Amino acid sequence: MNDILYVAIPCYNEEEVLPETSKRIKEKIQGLIDNKVINKKSRVLFIDDGSKDKTWEMIKKLCESDEIFSGIKLAHNRGHQNALIAGLMTAKEYADMVISMDADLQDDINVVDKFIEEYYNGSDIVYGVRSSRKTDTAFKRSTALAYYRILQKMGVDIVYNHADYRLMSKRALNGLEQFKEVNLFLRGIVPLIGYKTSVVEYERSERFAGESKYPLKKMLAFAIDGITSFSVKPIRMITALGFILFLVSLIMLVYSIIIKIIGHADSGWTSVICSIWMIGGIQLLSLGVIGEYIGKIYNETKSRPRFIIEEFINR
Ligand code: UDP
Ligand code: MG
Repeated sequence: MNDILYVAIPCYNEEEVLPETSKRIKEKIQGLIDNKVINKKSRVLFIDDGSKDKTWEMIKKLCESDEIFSGIKLAHNRGHQNALIAGLMTAKEYADMVISMDADLQDDINVVDKFIEEYYNGSDIVYGVRSSRKTDTAFKRSTALAYYRILQKMGVDIVYNHADYRLMSKRALNGLEQFKEVNLFLRGIVPLIGYKTSVVEYERSERFAGESKYPLKKMLAFAIDGITSFSVKPIRMITALGFILFLVSLIMLVYSIIIKIIGHADSGWTSVICSIWMIGGIQLLSLGVIGEYIGKIYNETKSRPRFIIEEFINR
């Protein structure tokens, strides 16, 4: 019971929260080391996701001040998920278990003890699950709930109210490494790995300082990614829609022949205009959805690297 833990923390322009985060997490990890719960080679690994502020300078200073801190500097901003995978894949070479958490102290650090306990009880993946969404705005709460429902309907298996606060064993991370996809949606991939998993509940607090690095636009793109990376149901829905429209067209055919025979054939301007706009709209929408998937294939076939490490400090 003396395994090495790495805590991977992606940071993008987080100079406002880093001093407090590093202080609190150091206390926590040092405490665990002192109590011989984890190995003294355990580290806190900050991943600087191409920040434009002083984040990397701060991480470097931390690394110099104490060997408990390690740091990765990515060559440029690649987004939270890529920064996270960079941290996980690097950490797994040194650690027996890795915990991923956000830099803004929204994830309750004290839950780390329970994570490790579950790990020692044999879990390879431990999910941190929010016990409530009290700290969210009503808008975020309701959209999040709707989104989970949609994902479920689409057959995507994700853990409800779980973000990216989790522990993974080396074995699970080796499994994760085999998922080579460039369109990363980690909370969709991790359940696909398998192994024994468990759940630990925690109260999510508000961002300690600074602003969310996930504006609505990024969040929407992330949400769409989550669906299209794991489900082809949207394409099936288009097929179903096409089929229904085909049936309608058969009825219309019979109808127009009858009208022709009766002799009122030149009425019907409205129905023609409506059909043109409606079918045109549906076709464009369908093309868009299919295009979304083709875009994914395009990105995957190029299989460009998910991250490039510019600097790595680990003592
Ligand atoms: N983050 C990152 N790269 C980005 C955007 C965000 O590494 O391009 C990090 C950020 O520093 C934080 C975590 O991802 O540690 C979650 O971001 P944030 O707290 O802004 O998102 P929210 O909690 O509002 O969803
Ligand atoms: Mg946050």
